[in-house]
Amino acid sequence: MVFVPQLAFVERKALEYELGQHLLNKIRQHNIPIEIYERRLPSVDPNLTARERFFHFKRTLVVGIWRRREFQTCKPSAHYQLPLVSGCPGLCQYCYLHTNLANRPYVKVYVNTDDIFDRAQKYITARKEETVFEASATSDPIAVEKWTGSLRRAIKFTTEVPNTRLRFVTKFADVDTLLGLDHQGKTEVRFSINAHWAMQRFEQGVPPVRKRLEAAACIQKEGYRVGILIAPIFMFPDWQREYDSLIQDVAKTMPTAPLTFELITHRFTMRAKAVINDVFPESELPLAEDERQLKYGQFGYTKLVYRREQMKELESFFQDRIKTLLPKAEILYFV
Ligand code: SF4
Repeated sequence: MVFVPQLAFVERKALEYELGQHLLNKIRQHNIPIEIYERRLPSVDPNLTARERFFHFKRTLVVGIWRRREFQTCKPSAHYQLPLVSGCPGLCQYCYLHTNLANRPYVKVYVNTDDIFDRAQKYITARKEETVFEASATSDPIAVEKWTGSLRRAIKFTTEVPNTRLRFVTKFADVDTLLGLDHQGKTEVRFSINAHWAMQRFEQGVPPVRKRLEAAACIQKEGYRVGILIAPIFMFPDWQREYDSLIQDVAKTMPTAPLTFELITHRFTMRAKAVINDVFPESELPLAEDERQLKYGQFGYTKLVYRREQMKELESFFQDRIKTLLPKAEILYFV
């Protein structure tokens, strides 16, 4: 399931970089219409509805320059975000990107990766202890890896710089470009999966969970650290049986792997709810505010999470099932 955009915006300055030229050639080979822009992206047709605008952007690739001075922090997953890509061509209704990329959900890849790695090096030097970078805080980087090769570069970077590790998570299964690399065990690839109930209703434009688990087993055989993200966890009528079956599938696929688990319950912001209502008006996502409790997020916005008692019930269920079915696995966090 390789992303093939229907339109590409390429920043003129990006063409001064090898990756920018490489992408321009690749886009041309695919006969994808290209617009070269200066620093500001061209505006889209103002007559498009919010839904049309969303799908238009989701099919658009932007090739640009990373210009921020600092990386954002990334708790609890890592110390810092590694900004190689932002956005994702997937169409998951519950996507966490609805909050931050609501007005511009295009996939943007940054071509000045040397500048990004130089900046990463400065953080590593300043911290003087192991520094972990998360490459998927605002994207699913595997979705565009066949275009950019930026994750391969990041994996190589970690092998050349002491005291650093890389992590990223994906719902895609196109991991063949990561095979055969000398990663030295410093990269952790996590696969995001969910119960059949959620996958069927809310995940579009991404491969089925079965394919993601096959990719996870393949990556594990390559010696990478492998993790499983169950996210977002929902409470639905048959949730215990379905999540139990999901964890059993993980155990069957990777019975002996030293796995980590990250468990993230469903949450939403009011901004995301507005986007979902505009873009997926028929969605069955549980978005009733009066059934949730408020939680303050690390970037200043509030989100609505399951109530305390429900959180306790979910946490104890997942702790129990993972410990029973995969006794060697480590649960990194439940939120
Ligand atoms: Fe969002 Fe992840 Fe789905 Fe992409 S794969 S749309 S980042 S939830």
